[in-house]
Amino acid sequence: MDRFFTANEAISTRRNHGKRKAGEKLVARKSKQQTPIKEQDPLIRQTNFQEVCLGYTLEEGILEADRCLQCKNAPCIKECPVNIDIPGFILAVREGDLNLARSILAEYTNLPAICGRVCPQEKQCEQVCKLGKAKGFEPVAIGKLERFVADHVRPRVSQLVPSQQKEKVAIVGSGPSGLTAAGDLAKLGYDVTIFEALHSPGGVLTYGIPEFRLPKDIVQREIKQIEDLGVTIETNVIVGKTLSMSEIKEQFAACYLAVGAGTPYFLGIPGTTLSGVYSSSEYLTRINLMRGYEFPRFDTPVKRAKKVAVIGGGNVAMDAARSAKRLGASEVTIVYRRSLEELPARIEEYHHSVAEGVSYRWLTNPMAYLGDESGNLTGMTCIQMELGEPDASGRRRPVEIAGSELTLEVDVVIEAIGQGANQVLLDHFKELPLNERGYIKTSESSAKTEIEGIFAGGDIVTGAATVILAMEAGKKAACEIDTYIKQKAENKG
Ligand SMILES: Cc1cc2nc3c(=O)[nH]c(=O)nc-3n(C[C@H](O)[C@H](O)[C@H](O)COP(=O)(O)OP(=O)(O)OC[C@H]3O[C@@H](n4cnc5c(N)ncnc54)[C@H](O)[C@@H]3O)c2cc1C
Ligand code: SF4
Repeated sequence: MDRFFTANEAISTRRNHGKRKAGEKLVARKSKQQTPIKEQDPLIRQTNFQEVCLGYTLEEGILEADRCLQCKNAPCIKECPVNIDIPGFILAVREGDLNLARSILAEYTNLPAICGRVCPQEKQCEQVCKLGKAKGFEPVAIGKLERFVADHVRPRVSQLVPSQQKEKVAIVGSGPSGLTAAGDLAKLGYDVTIFEALHSPGGVLTYGIPEFRLPKDIVQREIKQIEDLGVTIETNVIVGKTLSMSEIKEQFAACYLAVGAGTPYFLGIPGTTLSGVYSSSEYLTRINLMRGYEFPRFDTPVKRAKKVAVIGGGNVAMDAARSAKRLGASEVTIVYRRSLEELPARIEEYHHSVAEGVSYRWLTNPMAYLGDESGNLTGMTCIQMELGEPDASGRRRPVEIAGSELTLEVDVVIEAIGQGANQVLLDHFKELPLNERGYIKTSESSAKTEIEGIFAGGDIVTGAATVILAMEAGKKAACEIDTYIKQKAENKG
């Protein structure tokens, strides 16, 4: 593994090796189940913030890669939002050539160790995997193979970056969308600066998703690889307060707005201001960004409670509940107004939470928080629900059952009911048109806003979505910014 392949070599080597045989005949010879992956024991891991999944060894990775049928017209590629050559990199793993596998990944993604961990593969590439379509067979563990490769090999930067420096491009926000756009623009030779409001880059990857799913040293390592491409990251810069958009427009040839959707929604029920009621954003930021779980070694505290309720059923609710368990709560309950069938969280996260002792109260909706005379939360009243007709989202609408009120004893409640657009930049940049949901309006399937030279993408355009969709938007924006700057130069010339 001492030789690094360039992208062109990678592709030609794959073609030489890659005589993909018709899938179906091969199925019978494959193992039905995915190669098991080691995880921390649930009883141990619920007491620490270390990563749950321990990843494949080289031997296990090769074994799993050997399950891939190397399909012609591989459906997994089409279903991946950034169209990674999945059979190509898996073939390289099977051959034991991790450098080749890594350089194939680098062609398509700047954040493979992150995507391999947090992408909802079961709804994307793995859902359409042809092996998984055969009766009794599990799909190839594409995500686990992606993280395996990214964890073991780093791309060699000198082969990715062209030497000439072109125009300056500004990126606002250092989440997966901003980082992806920055990496791709740097590879095209642009002089890229990311402005980030927080003191540490990464967006949700850094402040939202906990260590036990996405270790922060992995996030920082992938960000470092983007900096190695020549990207500058300026932290503690709030665009709209410490730096204005007119300054950006004066100093940069183009700008990509990727400020995410990090403003928490609240239920707004009585008692919201009691001590012990958190938004998931605050709770997770204290834990992940400020390392509150290591208080007092780090100086931001986070309340350690006995009985915790988390309101909501998405990935954010799972992260908050599993974090509360790790902070020592004896009872952690997810209170969700629909049932398991409608749960929006990844099923893997649901199973992990159950194994760690998180319990569920289905078809239950909070009505009010209760407190003592000192203003501390002591409980909450809820009402039971039943499912009615499907709503606009296609999920059955929860309806209250009259007279079914109940009281739960709790000392911390975490509301994880969704997030909306970050307002600071939008309030300052009033001339930027927004859509009817309050997110930045771009022209259809493009990153172009209605203001010349200003592009936008990720959660601030779509609303809260996924890491890979934010990355896809970043890739698209980088291409469009390149075209825009070239055309402008041509028109001038
Ligand atoms: C707790 C949690 C768990 C999640 N789990 C998953 C998961 O398992 N899988 C998955 O695919 N997705 C998951 N998501 C969703 C995913 O993280 C987001 O869709 C994705 O991060 C969006 O990327 P982005 O780059 O658009 O924005 P963000 O990641 O939100 O990054 C935006 C950045 O812009 C910065 N910013 C905002 N305003 C300004 C300003 N005015 N000036 C400068 N900087 C600014 C913010 O500080 C932030 O760093 C999760 C989200 C949360 C909250
Ligand atoms: S990962 Fe699945 S769909 Fe993709 S090439 Fe391999 S077997 Fe076919």
